[in-house]
Amino acid sequence: MLGNPASLPHALLLAGPGGVGKSRFAAAMAARLLCEQPRGSWACGECDACRWQAGGNHPDFRKVTLEVDDAEGDEASTKASSKKSGVATQIKIHQIRALEDFVFVGSHRHGNRVVIVDPADAMNGAAANSLLKILEEPPPSVYFIMVSSKWRSLLPTLRSRCRKVLFGVPETGAAVAWLKQAGIKDPEMELGLAGGAPLRALARSERGTKDSTAEIIAPLSRQPLDPLTLAAHWESQLKVNPELNLENLVDTVQKWLHDLIRVRAALAPRYLARENENLSRLAATADPARLNRCHDSLLKVRATARHPLNTLLFLEDLAARCAVALTPARH
Ligand SMILES: [Zn+2]
Repeated sequence: MLGNPASLPHALLLAGPGGVGKSRFAAAMAARLLCEQPRGSWACGECDACRWQAGGNHPDFRKVTLEVDDAEGDEASTKASSKKSGVATQIKIHQIRALEDFVFVGSHRHGNRVVIVDPADAMNGAAANSLLKILEEPPPSVYFIMVSSKWRSLLPTLRSRCRKVLFGVPETGAAVAWLKQAGIKDPEMELGLAGGAPLRALARSERGTKDSTAEIIAPLSRQPLDPLTLAAHWESQLKVNPELNLENLVDTVQKWLHDLIRVRAALAPRYLARENENLSRLAATADPARLNRCHDSLLKVRATARHPLNTLLFLEDLAARCAVALTPARH
């Protein structure tokens, strides 16, 4: 497909789970389309265009993504919900409108122009409609590359304007080998924790969240489980590890519970293979119905993890749910 850009549709949708390489593929594709001496499917990496692109200042390239919020956010609710991270949760209409001049005025280099929208599912309704209008009358030699892990939530009219390229989770052996070569110490575990997506595993590992996994999970294996002690332990972990936040703490607990349910059903753990022994011991006395109820309730808990009213109360509630889940089955 990349070897012959003339055969490319003007709008592509790279769809598939997070962390499998869609964004990297989009970047490689943009570089290939802009390169002035391409080699087959690849950019040469040496021409002026490649150097500009690598330096982030090619005049015929735009990337539309989530902006760091400033005071001019156009929706009060968005600003409030993203206050903590400082990154907007939506791609807004002014970002798409800013593309209009770019796509309807000619190319600087008399070649291709490329727009990446990533993550495309972050466009709010107004932004998506505005992009749709551009795509309805596609300007010549402008390529739109949309990247999305939640592509089913995109406007159907927008989706129908794009050729979809589906990305899957790569085969485990290849992903483990790739992570090993990237210098990851425990590639199997990292890949498991990232749900099989190698780039997410790499990002996790680089953020250092792996070290907190054991700290979060270990006390759950100590019986009897005292929710208040556990909550205090988790709270101290949040304080000593600035990389850890409430959301990834809940994620880790969810993965632990997911694996506990699997082990209870005589399946291998998916995320925490290393915890197999502890999981088996807990699973031996656990009640599957309780585990499943807890699993369902954590989905709701997870939704409030971003902005809890009170962190310690939130953790105590989470710990209490785990304690209930582990209450042995009555015989
Ligand atoms: Zn080049």
